Amino acid sequence: MRPETRGELLQPNGLRVLAELGILNRLLASGAQVIHTIEFYQRSGDPLGTLDYRLLDPPYDYVVGNRPHRLRQLLLQSLGDTPIWWHAKVEGLQRDGNTWRVAVSTPAGPQQVRSRIVVAADGARSQVRRMLGIRARVRTYRDAYALTIVPRPADFPAVVRQYQGGGTLLGLVPVHPDELYVYWSVPAHRRDEFKGLGSGPLLQALDREDPGLARSLSSLPAVAWTVVVPVRVDAETWVVDGGVLLGDAAHALNPNAAQGTNQALADARALAPVLAAALGKGRVDAASLAPYEHARRALAAGAQRAGEEAARLWTSANPLTAWMAARVIRNLKHHPELARKLVTLTAGLEAAPFTLAERLRLII
Ligand SMILES: Cc1cc2nc3c(=O)[nH]c(=O)nc-3n(C[C@H](O)[C@H](O)[C@H](O)COP(=O)(O)OP(=O)(O)OC[C@H]3O[C@@H](n4cnc5c(N)ncnc54)[C@H](O)[C@@H]3O)c2cc1C
Repeated sequence: MRPETRGELLQPNGLRVLAELGILNRLLASGAQVIHTIEFYQRSGDPLGTLDYRLLDPPYDYVVGNRPHRLRQLLLQSLGDTPIWWHAKVEGLQRDGNTWRVAVSTPAGPQQVRSRIVVAADGARSQVRRMLGIRARVRTYRDAYALTIVPRPADFPAVVRQYQGGGTLLGLVPVHPDELYVYWSVPAHRRDEFKGLGSGPLLQALDREDPGLARSLSSLPAVAWTVVVPVRVDAETWVVDGGVLLGDAAHALNPNAAQGTNQALADARALAPVLAAALGKGRVDAASLAPYEHARRALAAGAQRAGEEAARLWTSANPLTAWMAARVIRNLKHHPELARKLVTLTAGLEAAPFTLAERLRLII
């Protein structure tokens, strides 16, 4: 399995699922990092404030900095000897009574399988969703993200550091004792230019925002950036007769939420018992699968909303919005109950947005 040059944050809602699967401790043993706080800084390097996950009830009062391939390896191991067709692609679906005929292309040639249920977990631009006849609104976000992994300086603590202002956002996440994940929001017009720039722009930005870190990375070998343009997906339904959507195929969201993988894990956790019951009854129609969508849709929508709001605040070039964002973070320490609400939202444990009164209290 090829490691991607990126990391991810696993949030309390996802950690809960991994613990249930017996994977969390093994993930931590593989080097994934327990992180309690997110530190926010102005682009100039001035500290703004922190978001502390210890405001949540234990045991999941932290996030985990991780590389996605390490989690995938553990999930695969937990499947035991379940057969997997690698590099296979679903090419077509045909309804035949109560089952699907699934056409799959594989490196060994085309295959046909029959199945009573199809789970479309093939990402934001899901073709299987289309084959199931489910319509979705797919919207491309304005800004792209440049992602990379650099060597972690020995003195970089187990915290997330996020620098913002002037329309950019630079984040640093320890994902292993030796690895630091860098995410950087790139205005759409600089997307292509960025790909060829190597480590230069990172060092320049760090020199402004965190000179100590820039110095410790000054011998950085050429950085390979992965540039990603995220999309939002709103599917009209997540369930049809014999078919369900899961993860980004149902509800891709703004990466500022740091929630996509966590939401996909929560989907899978909610779907498993519903699917087992439906298959047990011999009825996998939309009505039997609907409890899955009911359990999950509001939470996923809450994460979508929170991600867009965070992106609006943290990456805006508008000085008034940037001032408000700084104000919100600075004021968190005066409003512990609102700080707890923000952490609960970010953790994916609740969906209710801030009321107007709460927003005003955070700004004033
Ligand atoms: C910049 C950025 C940063 C992010 N950071 C975080 C973070 O910190 N925390 C977090 O939780 N989330 C984060 N996310 C979101 C997260 O990466 C996604 O939400 C998550 O990968 C979605 O998982 P998925 O399984 O639904 O889809 P995907 O990861 O897209 O997987 C879909 C799979 O389906 C396969 N496939 C595609 N077509 C077919 C087909 N026809 N037949 C069979 N298979 C097919 C693909 O090969 C792929 O393996 C981030 C996203 C971005 C863009």
